[in-house]
Amino acid sequence: MVINNVIILIRMDTICYEAYKNLYINLTNRCSADCIFCIRNFADGVHGYDLRLSKEPSAEEVIEALEIQDFSKYKEIVFTGLGEPTLRFDVVLAVTRWLKIRNIRVRLDTNGQAALINPEKNVILELKNAGIDSISVSLNAESEEKYNKLCRPINKNAYGAVLDFIKEARKAGISTRVTVVNVSEIDLEKCKKLADELDSEFHIRALSEAASKEI
Ligand code: SF4
Repeated sequence: MVINNVIILIRMDTICYEAYKNLYINLTNRCSADCIFCIRNFADGVHGYDLRLSKEPSAEEVIEALEIQDFSKYKEIVFTGLGEPTLRFDVVLAVTRWLKIRNIRVRLDTNGQAALINPEKNVILELKNAGIDSISVSLNAESEEKYNKLCRPINKNAYGAVLDFIKEARKAGISTRVTVVNVSEIDLEKCKKLADELDSEFHIRALSEAASKEI
C-alpha cells in the first residue's frame, strides 16, 4: 500500500500452507503444553512460512482461504498450527464438515489433549461425526513422568488423557498415528511398543518437524 509516497507493508496471516504434498491449516498459536523442543520457541514458522497469527481465523475465514485452493494437488488437508488446533475445536469441526462434503481427506495433528481442553464435549464422537479420517498424536514420551518433563502440559494429568484419546479414536474406527520427536531423552523403542499396543502407526519426527509440522 502506498500513502503519500510512503510504502506500507501489510503482513497477511498465513492460514493455509503447502508442505509434503499436503495442505496445512494454521488455526492457532496457542497450546495447552509447552514442549521443550517446540518450534514456537525457536522460530516464527516452518517451511519458509511465517505462521504467527495476528488474529485466529474464524471457520468462515478458513473456508474462504480453502475455496481458492486446488485440492487435486494435495494428498490430504491437515489441521495443525503453530499451536494446538483442538483449542479451536468448533472451527476444526465446521471446516472438517465443509471438506468432507467435498470428499476431501482430512487429518488432525494434535497433542491429544482435546478432552481436557474441551471437557464439555465428547470430542472423539464429534470428530467422528464431522468425518475426520485420521488423527496424528504427538505423544513424545513413554511415561507420564517423562511427558511432564518434556511437554510441560498445563494439566499435569494430561498423559493419561492423551492415551485415552488415542484409544477412543481407535475404538471409533478412526485411523491413528503416534509420533515422537527424535531427541535423546525419549525412549523410541518403548514409544514404538506403546504405539503398537494402541493399535497405531508410529512415526519418528526430526527435531525440526516439531510443533505438529509433520509428514
Ligand atoms: S510441540 Fe506441539 S504440543 Fe508441544 S508446545 Fe508446541 S504446539 Fe504444543
